[in-house]
Amino acid sequence: QETLLSVDSLDVKFEVPDGTIHALRDVSLAVRKGETVGLAGESGSGKSTLALAIVQYLDANGWVDDGSITFEGEDLLSASKSDLRSIRGNRIAHVAQNPARSLNPSMTIGAQVRETIELHQETGSSEETDERVYEVLDQVNLPDPAGIAERYPHELSGGQQQRALLAIGLSCNPDLLILDEPTTGLDVTTQAKFLDLVEDLKTEYDAGILLITHNLGVISEIADRVNILYAGEMLEKGPVDDVFTAPANPYTQALLATTPEIAEDKEVKPIPGRIPELDDIPDGCIFADRCEFATDECTSGDIETETVDAERDHESRCLHWQDVLDNPIDVPEK
Ligand code: ATP
Ligand code: MG
Repeated sequence: QETLLSVDSLDVKFEVPDGTIHALRDVSLAVRKGETVGLAGESGSGKSTLALAIVQYLDANGWVDDGSITFEGEDLLSASKSDLRSIRGNRIAHVAQNPARSLNPSMTIGAQVRETIELHQETGSSEETDERVYEVLDQVNLPDPAGIAERYPHELSGGQQQRALLAIGLSCNPDLLILDEPTTGLDVTTQAKFLDLVEDLKTEYDAGILLITHNLGVISEIADRVNILYAGEMLEKGPVDDVFTAPANPYTQALLATTPEIAEDKEVKPIPGRIPELDDIPDGCIFADRCEFATDECTSGDIETETVDAERDHESRCLHWQDVLDNPIDVPEK
């Protein structure tokens, strides 16, 4: 299938008062047309940073230090400001983790949706456009669309703000939809409805979706492929069916064991230790200090990404991936 977005060997850094944070190192990721791609990893692993780098919305102290980002054949890193603005408004919709920052605080939700619709779609009478606004707000499961349309962003909950942002994003018929933690803070029912919505959108718009979440249960439910990020490095990627049933990286294996929806009747086992600081990256594998499979070789040099299954595009950044496959998750039965 046609590749929509391709991130290759990306490095992102942030300047901070006492040095430089190397937040993403040699990160690659692809999204094809009509595909839902999950991006998972613990808090602080760099998920939002990757999304923000793609839409070039990194904080002012951050920059892409190396690598490339190609969208529909266009090099995003060398695109002009006006090209970028047009790509963001027309072809890529980014529903940020922090929606308040992306909404205009001094315009009602209705006015913001209306503005996008008028910019991107043939519009008829004012009443017809109003109807279209309510329709989009209803489509993202916002209750009482006409009432919500009258409100300002600060009068909405975080989850409602994100859905308003999604409504605005959808009004421009994007080719790529980036959703950053769209289900966090939603109750289970609303979350299930939201996931159904994403499925419908995929069918209706044939867009590519990059779904960012620390919730592996959500990814296993709706994603086709998954990318596992740890402390700024992509440790494993492949089809959800492969990665979740036969992980080829110790981190993925450990992470799955912490997910009740996936570990099912087995005991949930937290990963010992903590995610390393990113201002002083150690040699060797970034997960070595927490890894049950680690040997001396793991703590020096560069660890390359290895192919687990070329046909299925399954890769793991681990010297011992074969060992990991041979020793499936060891979680005690209840
Ligand atoms: P979460 O699940 O909590 O949303 P995340 O995976 O989205 O986490 P990021 O927000 O991308 O993580 O952060 C990745 C790393 O980059 C963290 O160590 C964070 O502290 C650092 N970082 C992000 N933005 C900045 C910034 N503007 N200045 C300095 N460091 C930053
Ligand atoms: Mg984040």
